[in-house]
Amino acid sequence: MTDIICSQQRVEECVIKEEPYYVPVGNEVEVFRAAYENKLPVSLKGPTGCGKTRFIEYMAYHLGRPLITISCHEDLTANDLIGRFLIKGESTEWNDGPLTAALKSGAICYLDEFVEARMDTRVVIHPLTDDRRIMPIEKLGIVLQAPPEFMLAISYNPGYQSVLKDLKQSTRQRFVSIDFDYPPAELETTIVAHESGVDEDTARTLVDIGHRIRNFKQHGLEEGVSTRLLIYAGMLINSGIEPREACRVAMIKPITDDNDLQKSIDEIISAIM
Ligand code: ADP
Repeated sequence: MTDIICSQQRVEECVIKEEPYYVPVGNEVEVFRAAYENKLPVSLKGPTGCGKTRFIEYMAYHLGRPLITISCHEDLTANDLIGRFLIKGESTEWNDGPLTAALKSGAICYLDEFVEARMDTRVVIHPLTDDRRIMPIEKLGIVLQAPPEFMLAISYNPGYQSVLKDLKQSTRQRFVSIDFDYPPAELETTIVAHESGVDEDTARTLVDIGHRIRNFKQHGLEEGVSTRLLIYAGMLINSGIEPREACRVAMIKPITDDNDLQKSIDEIISAIM
């Protein structure tokens, strides 16, 4: 006997009930809304910790759709996304995967760090991302048609790409693409103050340090310090950690293991704080 488990309960848990705090940086809200209205899939491109996830939560809330987020990794299989039969006692039950659940319920499905997914997993979304908007489920012998409310969004960090982990043009050219970067200094200051609880002056200093660290990208730093890390530093300061130490543990150590680079960045912080 085969049962199709109703995934409604899981999806209901993915409804965002309170407006997430998000400060728009450019026209991303309008572009995303227009893409949604035209049933177009969207890719959010940008470095880690710059606001992509918070943005999609904000949009899901304002569009009134549940948000199902899937963190992609190299062990993620197509069946993990679509679903599988599970043995239960004498019988087997079909379990919807998160992509199927999102599709059935007209949710926004967000595939975070999509380049981390294996090639065969990436291909699963192809028929969903053209005007067919369908998903065949071979094991059930059915083809699901996405309802108008369903939307697919992916994120990736162009900075991390290698030949192995690049997105093929056949995948890329299925998405409207929105670029993300660290917010401009004034906005980032407001965000850091709001999210960490430090005062505006302290937030401004953290953002200033952040900008200087980001300049080290020209000197061998793989990636600049994220807005997320600036917020962490602010939180530690707010909890009584000495500011320089907070910057060291939240803004220097996480981003590089290179002792020389750490020292150079430390000098900058000491000069400012
Ligand atoms: P990403 O998904 O790009 O890795 P996140 O969305 O998790 O990054 O952003 C990290 C944190 O930075 C968020 O939790 C949020 O506190 C803050 N943040 C970044 N950009 C914004 C923004 N424009 N408005 C509000 N908060 C932001």
